[in-house]
Amino acid sequence: MAVGIHPRSIPIEGTKKVLGHIRALFGNKQVSALGEVGLETDSNEGEKILVQQMRIANEYAAPIIIHTPRSNKPKIFNKLLLVIESEKIDPGRVIMDHLTPDLVPKARSAGVVAGLMVQPGKPTPQDVADILSKNGPEGIVVNSDLGNTPSDPLALPKVAHHLDWAGFGVKEIELVTCSNIRTLLPP
Ligand SMILES: [Zn+2]
Repeated sequence: MAVGIHPRSIPIEGTKKVLGHIRALFGNKQVSALGEVGLETDSNEGEKILVQQMRIANEYAAPIIIHTPRSNKPKIFNKLLLVIESEKIDPGRVIMDHLTPDLVPKARSAGVVAGLMVQPGKPTPQDVADILSKNGPEGIVVNSDLGNTPSDPLALPKVAHHLDWAGFGVKEIELVTCSNIRTLLPP
């Protein structure tokens, strides 16, 4: 299970208390990853809360699932990479989620795992196929991100089916829909 203060849901007050709870959950081994955390805008307040949470995750060498926003995505993506670097976080432990196709090679060259959220109005199974053709399956994780926005609980099997139809091998399909995330977040 992962826990974290989402950048769209930063409490108006009591942040310190929430951070204390997060630390306790890691300390009691009740959670194994931090997330979603990230930045919704480039506000200093958001960055401060992100950094505090990253420091907790770093103490426990926990994986970090990072949210990237709908607007200003490339700019915030670059800023997030800078925060990861300045906090000395192993990029191999980080998933940058909700990436657009153009950001996938940038994420891979920075060493972070590229998260592709397949949802109505977001990357489609065909987009995933195109991304895999260009980048290969290493370090790519497909997810459905079930939340409060319209999502498809069958997104993953649909992607697997589409990739099979498009001629990808079982191994590649398994990597992006299962094994890559298993390596990062052991069961
Ligand atoms: Zn998100």
